[in-house]
Amino acid sequence: MIKVFKFGGASVKDADAVKNVASILSLYKEDKIAVVISAMGKTTNALERLLNAYYFNTDKKESEFDFILNYHLDIVRDLFPHSDHPVYDELNDIFAAIKHQLSKEPSDNFDYEYDQLVSLGEIIATKIVSYYLNSVGIENIWLDARQIIRTDNTYRDARVIWDKTSELVRQSMNFNKNRIYLTQGFIGATAENISTTLGREGSDFSAAIVAWCLDAERVVIWKDVPGVLNADPKYFDNTVKIDNMSYQDAIELAYYGASVIHPKTIKPLQNKKIPLWVKSFVFPKEKGTLIHNEKEGLPVPSFIFKVNQVLITIAARDFSFIVEHNLRDIFRELVHHRIKINLMQNSALSFSICVDWDERKIPAFIKSIEEEFMVKYNTGLELVTIRHYDQPTIDRVTVNKDILLEEKTRHTVQIVMKDLGNAIE
Ligand code: ASP
Ligand code: MG
Repeated sequence: MIKVFKFGGASVKDADAVKNVASILSLYKEDKIAVVISAMGKTTNALERLLNAYYFNTDKKESEFDFILNYHLDIVRDLFPHSDHPVYDELNDIFAAIKHQLSKEPSDNFDYEYDQLVSLGEIIATKIVSYYLNSVGIENIWLDARQIIRTDNTYRDARVIWDKTSELVRQSMNFNKNRIYLTQGFIGATAENISTTLGREGSDFSAAIVAWCLDAERVVIWKDVPGVLNADPKYFDNTVKIDNMSYQDAIELAYYGASVIHPKTIKPLQNKKIPLWVKSFVFPKEKGTLIHNEKEGLPVPSFIFKVNQVLITIAARDFSFIVEHNLRDIFRELVHHRIKINLMQNSALSFSICVDWDERKIPAFIKSIEEEFMVKYNTGLELVTIRHYDQPTIDRVTVNKDILLEEKTRHTVQIVMKDLGNAIE
């Protein structure tokens, strides 16, 4: 039976972290493992900054490039003290290719350029980790995800072509002679072999894709938290670890913005009833959280906090009712601007949506509908989603908040609110 392990940015953020990956793998000496790895630390953010500098031709290009290069060189020097190790040549080649790319004029397709450059963070990370594991006796085969994860060409949000991907993954990870394969999360390629990415934080999804293709026995996501918590410790004290949860609850929590698992991850696992473990890479022997096919509700109310929200209220200019064709026009523009709705509500005269603030997308969207509609909006808001809510939890999260909108279903309540703390100061 095959296990799929996913190590995210934090679990390979420096030389010690990479060594820790080796020690975790050495706890599983008998298993067949497909390892999926993200870019190291905050490399993807740095690559995004480099891309912006390149695309908009700012003077930051060189410093961002050097930052990424030096960050990786530091790690590599620590892991491979002998400067004639082949990893140095490999990295040189990759960085030389980046440099070459940066000297050319970018095309007018930003998203395409994004995928060509930003995907390399994962390539670099996996090269380093694969060489390191081999050097300490954990033999593994490095695979290029762009050869096995087949997607369409929706750059930055590529759709997986499941049949073809399954065929390719099974062919390359056949486990006949090898026990460990190692590949990149987050990236894939089109049939023409053009690199694509699956959306930010997409490595979890990659692990699920590989698991689905291989009919894996389980997926383990190794994290810097002990498992799935009932709230983000960034915002709340007294969080509780959830031992067991259903796929359904995991999907809902991820969908509403719990950062612990990428929202697309669960569905493929649920379809094949593959259990997902979220475990601590610091305490790998602890149990973590098991997400599986059980129907029980969450033992405790779980809440997800999203900041930097904007509430947009849209009404017809002539005060007529908001009817289907208005909604159709609004949705067409939302799709066009690739805006994801976190919450929506309509009344006779208006339609409201709560979405993540984005300084480019939101003003462009508003402009596109302003001729037909009256648009008001409120920025700097918070959205809290409570799954399996109760009144004490609602009271706890709405203390000192002005509530602008609230929506309740049987299992979930969502509240859009403004923090009054700032207003009083
Ligand atoms: N490296 C990518 C990101 O930071 C993918 C991932 O970490 O899951 O978004
Ligand atoms: Mg990550």
